[in-house]
Amino acid sequence: MANCSICGKQAVYIVKPGGLALCKKHFLEYFDRKVRRTIRKNKLFNKNDHIVIAVSGGKDSLSLLHYVVNLSRRAKMGWRITALTIDEGISGYRDYTIKRVKELSSTLGVELKIASFKEYFSYTLDEVVKISREKGLPYLPCTYCGVFRRYLLNKVSREIGGTVLATAHHLDDVVQTYLINIFSNNWSNIYKLTPSLTSIHKLFVRRVKPFYEVLEKETTLYAILNGLYPSERAECPYAPLSFRWQVRKVLNYLEESRPGLKYSTMRSLMEATSLKNVASSEAMTCRVCGEPSSHEVCKACQLRAELGLLEVRG
Ligand code: SF4
Repeated sequence: MANCSICGKQAVYIVKPGGLALCKKHFLEYFDRKVRRTIRKNKLFNKNDHIVIAVSGGKDSLSLLHYVVNLSRRAKMGWRITALTIDEGISGYRDYTIKRVKELSSTLGVELKIASFKEYFSYTLDEVVKISREKGLPYLPCTYCGVFRRYLLNKVSREIGGTVLATAHHLDDVVQTYLINIFSNNWSNIYKLTPSLTSIHKLFVRRVKPFYEVLEKETTLYAILNGLYPSERAECPYAPLSFRWQVRKVLNYLEESRPGLKYSTMRSLMEATSLKNVASSEAMTCRVCGEPSSHEVCKACQLRAELGLLEVRG
């Protein structure tokens, strides 16, 4: 690797496109500048916010927890920070990542709340997937996981008094979601892909993405340089079944041959979201569970009804 373009020390990262080489110190400053710019530009956090950070135990969410706690020490904005982990019930995987969340929250001195599918929905994800397959339903495990997790993140954040919910979605995640929704012509989801998502529904906790403009390889390097990168690799057993898995591979392949493609796709998304005000998303109330919804019955209740785990009349 080249030497740092700023100080001449051994570089750990090359910014592409452009070719700027950065050593550890200057990479961390570059990373911090990018994230703070997103936070400032989009007004992600307010004074005295109770920030709930969704932490799965993967490298990205551990990095977000580490970053926000350190920022809060510097910024002195009176923030209270709570890590929130959703235990979906994926055997052989989630136990291991929860252990990592517990270790980091305790090192950082942050409160940790763990909520599980079993506790709130009476079934683990593994059980839901089994029922779904037996019934021949067309959904992939990630569909159930994503819908139920988003539902619980909002509900539990609200229950513990959170004023804002921060997730570790980085630029790669956002661009992948953008493309997936273009393929299915789902523009209402695309309009929600902003750094900050508010709602006029009083039960919806504002959702923010501080890593919105940071590449996945940059959060990975942040994790490595701060000793957060997991020593053992744990991959969700359902991940390779998802469409996102394929989109991610294709995007990484294209970025290799055309550096900057992810940034330009992101700019296209920003153009699209600027055309529509999304404040009215999740404006309705689910008539079954009373949570915010964009339909008369929310997606979590619809899926549970199809699985035969919930009775929905009418
Ligand atoms: Fe859930 Fe899919 Fe992620 Fe596994 S890969 S944790 S099933 S969303």
